[in-house]
Amino acid sequence: MTYDGALPRPTPETRAFWDGTKAHRLMLPWCEACGQPHFYPRAICPHCLSDRLDWRQASGRATLYSYVINHRPAKGFEAPYVIAAVTLDEGPRMLTNIETDGPPEPDALRLDMALEVVFADVTDEITLPRFRPAP
Ligand SMILES: [Zn+2]
Repeated sequence: MTYDGALPRPTPETRAFWDGTKAHRLMLPWCEACGQPHFYPRAICPHCLSDRLDWRQASGRATLYSYVINHRPAKGFEAPYVIAAVTLDEGPRMLTNIETDGPPEPDALRLDMALEVVFADVTDEITLPRFRPAP
């Protein structure tokens, strides 16, 4: 099936993130001044305003912070599907989707449950990070 959903347009601030996902690595901007990662990518650290940023590979582990099961059709998704906020083990929070085996059920989606990143190669150029329950 051809992906027909919205696609990111990498910018100078986000290019390393999208290059990372394409290589199936979850990369986070990391501040060399205060030592903290952040997300989303931007030119200046939101914690200390330094521009001394570098990229490091994240573990890909996260916990489920909040979610909604969307039952309305949307381009690029097969309803119902899960829209979620996850807390990466490194600290930053990320909006994403949760992949489930079969239709998502609230009983199978516990807050704080362990998740792991998976990579969806939706086009030749773009790979989206999603999460699924960790084994
Ligand atoms: Zn900083």
